[in-house]
Amino acid sequence: MNEVQAERLLDVQQTLISQIALGTSQKECLERIASEIEYLIALPDVFCSILILEGSCLKSGAAPSLDADYCAAIEGVKIGPNVGSCGTAAFKKKSVYVSSISTDPLWTDYKELALKAGLRACWSVPIIASYGDVLGTFALYFGHERDVDKESIRLVKRFCNLASLVMERDVNESKSKALHQALKHNSHRFESFAQAMPDLVLIFDEDGNYADIYGSQPDSLILPSSLLKGRNLSDVMPPAKSMSMMNVIRQCLVEKTRTVFEYDLDVQEGPRSFEARISPIPHYNPDYPERGHVIWVATDVTERKRADDTIRKLSFYDAVTSLPNRRLLKERLALQVRKASDRGLNGGILYLDLNDFKRINDTVGASGGDLMIVEVAKRIADELDLRDSLARVGGDDFVILLDQMSPNLKAFSNSVTTAAAKVLSVFDERFKVADNWFRVTARIGISLFGHEHIAPEKLINQAESAMYRAKELGERVVFFDSSVQEAQVERIHMEYDLERALENHEISVFYQPQVNGVGRVVGFEALMRWQHPERGFVSPLEFIPLAEQLGIIPELQELVLRHVCGLIRVLEASKKLAPDFRVAVNISACQFSKDDFETALLDIISGFNVPPSRLTLEITEGTVLENIDNAIIQMQNLQSLGFDMSIDDFGTGYSSLAYLQKLPVNEIKIDKSFVDDIELSDTGRSIVDVIIYLSRQLGCRVVAEGVEKDSQTEYLVGKSVDVLQGYHFARPMPIETLMPWIDEQPTSIETPLAKRA
Ligand code: C2E
Ligand code: CA
Ligand code: CA
Repeated sequence: MNEVQAERLLDVQQTLISQIALGTSQKECLERIASEIEYLIALPDVFCSILILEGSCLKSGAAPSLDADYCAAIEGVKIGPNVGSCGTAAFKKKSVYVSSISTDPLWTDYKELALKAGLRACWSVPIIASYGDVLGTFALYFGHERDVDKESIRLVKRFCNLASLVMERDVNESKSKALHQALKHNSHRFESFAQAMPDLVLIFDEDGNYADIYGSQPDSLILPSSLLKGRNLSDVMPPAKSMSMMNVIRQCLVEKTRTVFEYDLDVQEGPRSFEARISPIPHYNPDYPERGHVIWVATDVTERKRADDTIRKLSFYDAVTSLPNRRLLKERLALQVRKASDRGLNGGILYLDLNDFKRINDTVGASGGDLMIVEVAKRIADELDLRDSLARVGGDDFVILLDQMSPNLKAFSNSVTTAAAKVLSVFDERFKVADNWFRVTARIGISLFGHEHIAPEKLINQAESAMYRAKELGERVVFFDSSVQEAQVERIHMEYDLERALENHEISVFYQPQVNGVGRVVGFEALMRWQHPERGFVSPLEFIPLAEQLGIIPELQELVLRHVCGLIRVLEASKKLAPDFRVAVNISACQFSKDDFETALLDIISGFNVPPSRLTLEITEGTVLENIDNAIIQMQNLQSLGFDMSIDDFGTGYSSLAYLQKLPVNEIKIDKSFVDDIELSDTGRSIVDVIIYLSRQLGCRVVAEGVEKDSQTEYLVGKSVDVLQGYHFARPMPIETLMPWIDEQPTSIETPLAKRA
């Protein structure tokens, strides 16, 4: 018998004992016994039959799945020495095992009936009363010829005891009377049965007194049974335990139903866990039939609980640190979120990630890395409140669920910040792993929750994204901000789209004219455009940083340069512009600092036969400042090849102007923000004045960009700015519009400057 069967068997036995005690009808009890046996033997063609002996005839007791015609045909059969298996068994008061109905002489008279019903073997056991009489038979039929096996017979015999208990009850009298008598009759049988049970069987009266104690495990009792009998629960149990047990007894007696109750108890053999099934037994004591009693069958489930605990440990705790894992964290978080929203409080979680943990892992190996993680966990735990939850949710990722909550959001976020600082302070001291000392740093992302329900997974993700944001910003602690999160999601989409933009020819180049002080077109700035299929034009301000991260700037740059070269060839051929016109191209920082930038550039333009002198390369002040020494060398090289170098967005880099003297520049572009300020304030104007003055000193051109108004134009021309660029003259346009636009421009060099938009 396997474990599942054994457990089921015990369960059925207990149920039946209480059913018998409760006075459930004989038929119901026998049916239950028969079905259970069929279930436990688990063969598709096994049929159980229980027959009741009345006088010298066998009457049907229970046969839940046996062929109905067959049952009807043998109903009332007289027992005798050659009457099939059952008739013979009852007659001889002895088990009869027939493995082949078709050949066994006992079946000569009945085999036709049986074979017709598909029955090929039949083993029968007599059911014998406590006083020695045969009560009936218990049979197993099989749809195939089958030799007797001990296992099944043992099972049958176990149930025979129960069946006899059921059958001995006098069903003709009223139930209570029947029970009264039956119990009296069978008390020793019941006792011996209960005594053999692996479980503890206790009978309590309605006041919680121990009436009887049975069972083969005396050590499972809180005291030896001789000391318990007659005592009250409250005399022997801790008060809380006796009270809860008493409640169960009362509830069981009032509701008259079986109850299951789990409890831990320090018994004679030590602390154990029990699962009890409790059923009422009316009229238990024949002398005081009105007094209520319950049968309390307690199974020791300590081992099972221990196994459950281990399983729980495995699935809810991290093996390395023994900290709760993501799963358990989510459960706890869900509770805390509910609490917060129910009570109108704010709560929060901290997502902590170690910086550069990979480097440590690479140095000391994975096991060293584990040691380090354990040490980190220990240090953090020391800084936390006992009720905070620290969970490990990934390799070097921890989440702290703060126990503390507050109705005041501002005060709460302050104290969360303090908690984060405390946690980060554990990294002030170095870590020693396998004789190596490491300085480790970490970052924390925080997400708060409050009045609305939010899924734990979502909160954790939010805190994680805040942590990534902290990384990006170079901060140690960052709070999650939903607008940031939305931007991130959008960015991920954009990244995906941008990778395909090149293949789909969605990238093009627009040109914005640049004019001189008398309004003559002196050149253009090439500006990249991305025409997104759904979003329309996406500004380069948005996608250039993305393109840098994706590493596709070289491809984009090449596309722009080829386009520009194509335009230059067309313009040269058309002879519509002054012979010294130039086209300005923006160069990204990441591109500019590359060694092969120069070669790539020359390769492209020479392919078009365009001389470097046609091109101005714009780099921002920021790009130059990133690495001044390198920038100077690179710029000198490019200049010596014939390119013009222009400093874009000049004035926004907050740099000391002194460095400018060292730079080989041909042009400075006054940033739009200063041009905007011209008419707004004296300071605005003086900044522009200073930049113009400085350029003069350095001997380079000045370009004012973002010129939108007459007044700005007037001022700038008055200051003899060399080149103007802005919507006031023309917006950036595609090449199809650019050519007609050029045609419209007055050819006379002498044309005074005027609005041309
Ligand atoms: P930038 O080099 O400072 O370009 C000037 C920006 O100002 C352009 O925006 C232009 O359309 C805009 N602009 C010009 N005149 C006016 C005006 O009167 N009023 C206003 N409000 N705006 C004006 P755009 O085309 O969106 O380009 C933005 C930035 O993207 C550029 O700033 C540049 O840094 C970068 N970029 C554009 N094309 C390329 C490219 O081919 N390569 C690289 N690496 N960066 C590029
Ligand atoms: Ca530019
Ligand atoms: Ca600019």
